[in-house]
Amino acid sequence: MSTKTKYIFVTGGVSSSLGKGIISASLGKLLQARGFNVTIQKLDPYINIDPGTLNPYEHGECFVTEDGAETDLDLGHYERFLNIHTSQANNITTGIIYKSVIEKERKGEYLGQTVQVIPHITDEIKYRIKLLAHKQNFDFVITEIGGTVGDIESLPYIEALRQMRWEMGDDCISIHLTLVPYLAAAGELKTKPTQHSVKTLQEAGVQPDIIVCRTEKHISEAIKNKIARFCNVKAKDVIESIDAKTIYDVPLLMLKEHLDLEVLRISNIPCKREPDIEKWKEFLFKLKHPKKSVTIGLIGKYTELKDAYKSIVESFIHAGTINECKVNVIRISAEKVNDTTVKELLKDVDAVLVAPGFGERGIEGKITSIKYVRENKIPFLGICLGMQCAVIEFARNVLNFENAHSTEINPKTKFPVIDIMENQKKISGMGGTMRLGAYPCNIVKNTKAFEIYNTQATTERHRHRFEFNNKYLEDFKKAGMIPSGINNKDNLVEIVELKNHPWFIGVQFHPEYKSTVVNSHPVFINFIRAAIKQKELKK
Ligand code: GLN
Repeated sequence: MSTKTKYIFVTGGVSSSLGKGIISASLGKLLQARGFNVTIQKLDPYINIDPGTLNPYEHGECFVTEDGAETDLDLGHYERFLNIHTSQANNITTGIIYKSVIEKERKGEYLGQTVQVIPHITDEIKYRIKLLAHKQNFDFVITEIGGTVGDIESLPYIEALRQMRWEMGDDCISIHLTLVPYLAAAGELKTKPTQHSVKTLQEAGVQPDIIVCRTEKHISEAIKNKIARFCNVKAKDVIESIDAKTIYDVPLLMLKEHLDLEVLRISNIPCKREPDIEKWKEFLFKLKHPKKSVTIGLIGKYTELKDAYKSIVESFIHAGTINECKVNVIRISAEKVNDTTVKELLKDVDAVLVAPGFGERGIEGKITSIKYVRENKIPFLGICLGMQCAVIEFARNVLNFENAHSTEINPKTKFPVIDIMENQKKISGMGGTMRLGAYPCNIVKNTKAFEIYNTQATTERHRHRFEFNNKYLEDFKKAGMIPSGINNKDNLVEIVELKNHPWFIGVQFHPEYKSTVVNSHPVFINFIRAAIKQKELKK
């Protein structure tokens, strides 16, 4: 194991949704900007092996890494903030920990011992944390522990943290994020919930080094002193985290509060240099001073849920910023779209994105919207299921393949234009049947896709079971829907586009997983550009 890696733990108290992921990503960004090699890991206390099987209503979007891990959406924030790739090792769940311990027990690796939470589960947790450091010799591994202190299910993680602090001294530091609520009736910020939360952590044997206080009003020195006195920390280690207009403000707010410098001081690391965050500041400036705006209709089935299409929404922010354009996203429930409602529902949009998804709900609405944007020459981007719906729509309405469908929805269709691949059929077990993670994609010259990518070879991340059915490829090509991205090795269609349309692209992969603050994705950049053009045309 690397000897010089420092471990930073981020725990949360008082309430969920305080933004541990954003604080972790912001701290990671600042340390990286000061020249350190940083990665961030999330420990999730649920028993699912991964969030791949979780309904987005339960846990928001499932984020997919290069190596094909289905992970918590916080990993998306880590990648977008740090412009790094994470991997399976960056997201550990209780399910993974127990599965591995039980498998070792069955193999007889514990040599007759009673297998217990302490030390066997906690050892496995510690092993997984250190394994990540070992991978690339990181200077810092930031580990965010999911849930809230005091939860029964996060106890083994807090215990692993306690042990690591005891074993490693200043190589391991603890940051606790709490809420300092403002009581309007009293006209005051209240510190009691923070005091209680820190006490709960102390009862588990962990003394935080830094307390980050989420708040809607500025925290005075007096309040910082009060929290410091009750919680055994220095006043300068009580850090204010005030509500921000955008999550992308948080690294600069943390810089102002010296979160990164305090981490370096506590872990006895000399500060290498001033942070290099010019690009980030440029991004923020453009984000806050758009010169124009467009409206995108996002058609999916989880419209009420903020986090369901997280990476897509963030990709719009990145791509909008590059175009100095504010992107307003209207979420449209696919189930509400039909021949009579489509015109009205899409009347204010400059472009349409049909979202990824699984299952039948909303499918016909997606297909109807695609027919409308195809016929009315409105810019369209279909991602994964969205691309598959574009293929189905074209088959039904242009090729006159009656009731053409994907075999995911109608296994008996006469025209299975989207079908499962022979070699996928044999695999079983959740997650296993899917094509997951990064695959190469060859971009065909003289296509819109080539204009967008400006290269013939790229890689993109996947998460799906079904594919374009090559049996019908010639029919599609003749009628004007052409494959412009191909996986040569397995002969799979990865991108389709329309010849006679200003901007109509369907991608079998998920470009949204690769868009970051300093590296916005070309598909999104171009899509927004097409929306801007469309808006100008309407004038
Ligand atoms: N349900 C489709 C498939 O499995 C699309 C998946 C997706 O949109 N991520 O192929």
